[in-house]
Amino acid sequence: MSYTITDECTFCGVCASECPVEAISEGDDKYMIDPGLCTECGLCAEVCPVEAPVEGK
Ligand code: SF4
Ligand code: SF4
Repeated sequence: MSYTITDECTFCGVCASECPVEAISEGDDKYMIDPGLCTECGLCAEVCPVEAPVEGK
């Protein structure tokens, strides 16, 4: 499973520039994670100011 970004996302863009595999891109109203690219490293969750990225279940 990949990480996913919840509705808590404030569209700041910090995670997208930190993701080592460039799995994060702008969605319509929040940033999105491509599940085929995400390696579950957890870096996006560490850098996000509102803890919007969460581990998939
Ligand atoms: Fe959204 Fe957090 Fe990423 Fe900012 S760092 S774009 S708030 S998920
Ligand atoms: Fe990118 Fe790692 Fe976040 Fe997956 S968990 S989206 S690989 S920063």
